[in-house]
Amino acid sequence: MKLMAALFLCFAAFNAQAFTLNNSAKLVFAQDEVTVNVAGGFCTNIGITDTEFLTIVGEAVDQFWNKAPTSRLKLRQGQIINVATAFHTDTICTASTNCTPNPTIAVTSDILVSCNNNSANFTSSSILGVTIPNNISGTTILGSLVMINDMASTQFDTKTHAEKVAIISHELGHAFGLGHSPVEDSLMYYATVSQRTRLGRDDIDGISYLYPKQQPISGCGTIDLNKSGPNFWPGLFIGVSIIALAELFRKKSKASTAI
Ligand SMILES: [Zn+2]
Repeated sequence: MKLMAALFLCFAAFNAQAFTLNNSAKLVFAQDEVTVNVAGGFCTNIGITDTEFLTIVGEAVDQFWNKAPTSRLKLRQGQIINVATAFHTDTICTASTNCTPNPTIAVTSDILVSCNNNSANFTSSSILGVTIPNNISGTTILGSLVMINDMASTQFDTKTHAEKVAIISHELGHAFGLGHSPVEDSLMYYATVSQRTRLGRDDIDGISYLYPKQQPISGCGTIDLNKSGPNFWPGLFIGVSIIALAELFRKKSKASTAI
């Protein structure tokens, strides 16, 4: 029985951290706030304007990653910016196996989402996006690039608005350091991203592992049974004191009457 319990605990512990990282190193942004900008002026096949693209980015951060309560990372909707044409036309890696980021399109800071129509990035029309932190210093991500499939054969334009939001959000997960999750109800599960409407447990575990929220030190670590907290006990003492005084007064007045 004990052995069964131990095995169950091992299994549970394994499932609790099923998320993976973007690569073997734990790469993270150093700052708590990361801006997500959109490269404008190029998308032709994804079926949305630059403004709609930016709106989708805003929804992707607010509906998914910014809802992780135990993560210090906050993603912010940025703006539409102009970038070199290479961001729209070049390969994201200089070598297809074991990717070496293409230095020509290194993102200076934060996250850039861009349309791209290079067939080496999208070897199948079912590949909707590719992402890589492509500006790294040690284990710190300085900048990440998200490319959305803008080839004539792209299937991105066939997706609903909600699906596009989830797809962009999945790519943002890669951009700040997460790999794929084997847990099917996760946003970071590779195959069913378009069916996701919120983060799964594994997504929250992943972002919290990479970006743990620190509790500020403000006194000793207390736990309180009552929501009203510090007001509860003084209130109780005052209430008891009033009752005790009233009782004392009643006894005294009774005694004086008896005299
Ligand atoms: Zn993915």
